[in-house]
Amino acid sequence: MPNHTQTNAGLLARSLSAVWHPCSQMKHYQQFPLVPITRGTGVWLYDHDGKRYLDTVSSWWVNLFGHCNPRINAALRDQLETLEHVMLAGFTHEPVVQLSERLRDLAPAGLGHCFYGSDGASATEIALKMSAHYWRNTGQVDKTQFISLKNGYHGETLGALSVTDVALFRDAYGALIRQQATVPSPDSRKAAAGESAEAYALRCAEALEQHLQQHHAQLAAFIIEPLVQGAAGMAMYHPVYLQRARQLCDTYGVHLIADEIAVGMGRTGTLFACEQACITPDFLCLSKGITGGYLPLSVVMTRDEIYQAFYADETARGFLHSHSYTGNPLACRAALATLDIFAQDDVIAANRHKAAYLNEIAQPLREHRAVRNWRNTGMIWAFEVDSPHRDIAQRCFALALQNELLLRPIGNTIYFMPPYVISEEEMDLLVERTLKIVGQLG
Ligand SMILES: *Cc1c(COP(=O)(O)O)cnc(C)c1O
Repeated sequence: MPNHTQTNAGLLARSLSAVWHPCSQMKHYQQFPLVPITRGTGVWLYDHDGKRYLDTVSSWWVNLFGHCNPRINAALRDQLETLEHVMLAGFTHEPVVQLSERLRDLAPAGLGHCFYGSDGASATEIALKMSAHYWRNTGQVDKTQFISLKNGYHGETLGALSVTDVALFRDAYGALIRQQATVPSPDSRKAAAGESAEAYALRCAEALEQHLQQHHAQLAAFIIEPLVQGAAGMAMYHPVYLQRARQLCDTYGVHLIADEIAVGMGRTGTLFACEQACITPDFLCLSKGITGGYLPLSVVMTRDEIYQAFYADETARGFLHSHSYTGNPLACRAALATLDIFAQDDVIAANRHKAAYLNEIAQPLREHRAVRNWRNTGMIWAFEVDSPHRDIAQRCFALALQNELLLRPIGNTIYFMPPYVISEEEMDLLVERTLKIVGQLG
């Protein structure tokens, strides 16, 4: 491997000159430098100088079983010696078939068909297009609109951005996006004083019903992040909203798209978040954790009735969407190794114990005077920090690095979304150091 630079500073300068970094105002890196990472192991990332950082955000919510996981590495090495890639139109291979069969067995019943993409946004695009195309194929050509939740996030390509409600990501591209309506988010922080999360979720479902009543003839689908709206700042809500959404979508003939790109693969305490509402969506989107955080891969799972509406003699009735790397064998092998770990280590049960431990030791943090809205769903924790500083997110990020943590707050929301391999000692360190950081921010 070429290794031109031995120091942090050297790599940093070269990166700023040649790499345009995502989700960044490049100029801000003058004040808050990039962190050059050379290697990773378990929950830890290491820089050139040997300093370590606990990856509390799982490298943008993708890593499940630690960096350089030996079992995933071994599976990839094996695959690398067998078949690195073959196109999936006109060809097939064992890893993609096995992955599709295993996902079908694990997902909510009835999602028997897997369509692959390369990343989360492409899964959103696939689900939106497939939904609208289904209605077209079944003669309901007016059903071409979508609805989503207030503050929802479904990716940043133009189609996905049209159902994403994050002003910072959207405003510059308003002229390029077809405007879609949003309905109120059941975010339990917004409940009225004395109102339960469940009651608030039901109240939001009434608003959804009113919208569906009026607009269902033009609506193809309702897209939603089940249980936790990640980019909104880990907004958590009661599962009854999903149950009502499923009933209402059935009543009004509108598809339900469950975007489990962030919350799938065990993140909310069940393998899929929809399980907690006992519902089957019409489309289930998975990405991020599906390869354990190794390789880009996404999948949209759907029902047989939808699949059948495309099955015909005419080419144009088919779903002609494609990506060059659709169903890449290496990515599928990483996903299979990830599913193996879930089964072999009884990860869902183990995570319940880890979550209980973290909740117990976090008592001083949740009681800190600057901490508000402490909340937890599965392996996601979040809280808001009252702080006089306007640049709290950047300050917190910088303070965290000094304390061996990678924390990347969303506004004044600090969240933990650690790899599932985090140990009790590492959780102790995480909570202790975060408490110290919050003390310096509040
Ligand atoms: C990250 C994310 C996406 C987009 O995935 P990319 O791989 O970043 O394109 C879509 N929906 C949700 C809920 C996400 O968290």
